[in-house]
Amino acid sequence: MSLALLDKIYVVLIETSHPGNIGGAARAMKNMGLSNLRLVRPKQFPCAEATARASGADDILACAQVYDSFEESLQDCNLIMGTSARPRSIAWQMLTPRGCAEQAIRSEGKIALVFGREHSGLTNAELDRCHYWIQIPTNPEFSSLNLAAAVQVLAYELRGAALAFSPANVETVETEPNEPPASTEAMLQFYQHLEQTLIELEFLDPEKPRRLMRRLQRLFNRAQPNDSEINILRGILSAAEGKYIEKHAPRRLKNEP
Ligand code: SAH
Repeated sequence: MSLALLDKIYVVLIETSHPGNIGGAARAMKNMGLSNLRLVRPKQFPCAEATARASGADDILACAQVYDSFEESLQDCNLIMGTSARPRSIAWQMLTPRGCAEQAIRSEGKIALVFGREHSGLTNAELDRCHYWIQIPTNPEFSSLNLAAAVQVLAYELRGAALAFSPANVETVETEPNEPPASTEAMLQFYQHLEQTLIELEFLDPEKPRRLMRRLQRLFNRAQPNDSEINILRGILSAAEGKYIEKHAPRRLKNEP
């Protein structure tokens, strides 16, 4: 049975070293009815080993989209969920695989599930781009799953959630569709604007940034603003910059030799 709710899920594998893991992930996806695979700088792809491990999920490999950068692969996605075997230093919105699946199935727009490198996982900067972090609860003394096995666990939960939320099981209520969260590209531009304004206002010292931008990203990831809300926030930033320049420019001019 094809479940339309799964069509908005994009599995994104970052810099996978072993082509066998790409094939294993494709097989896991197809078993659970997922079809959108994105690869960021895979070490070897296409590759016979990937096709062999896909065991018949060749169509997923054939349609896989390959990207040069993490940002590019997520540009059109509205909700980004990153996976990590280890808890990280800064508290984020952590989800279990089941929590992730329920959240994903209910959300509007494209949803990316991002998986890291076999040896080092995702970088802190990559995890900071995610709205949620997902940790599969494993033995804390041996927590890291094989990449394709991690894809399998999440794909299984997504299928379960899609079955539970499929129209046959849910009473449909006619409501206005919610505006999806702003795209990754829009959020990135907003963060750049925010950082530049905070530096201009001398609130953020680029020499000593501490964790301000990471904390602000965490705040906005929690809120999941949509495009109109981002436009309002950027309007406020531009107004603040304008006022600051108006107030300080005469002094600057006066001090100039
Ligand atoms: N040594 C790496 C683990 C890499 S395993 C690290 O400590 O981060 C490769 C990828 O599989 C991870 O980046 C993650 O995407 C996924 N993965 C493995 N185990 C996981 C777990 N317990 N929970 C969530 N994702 C996991």
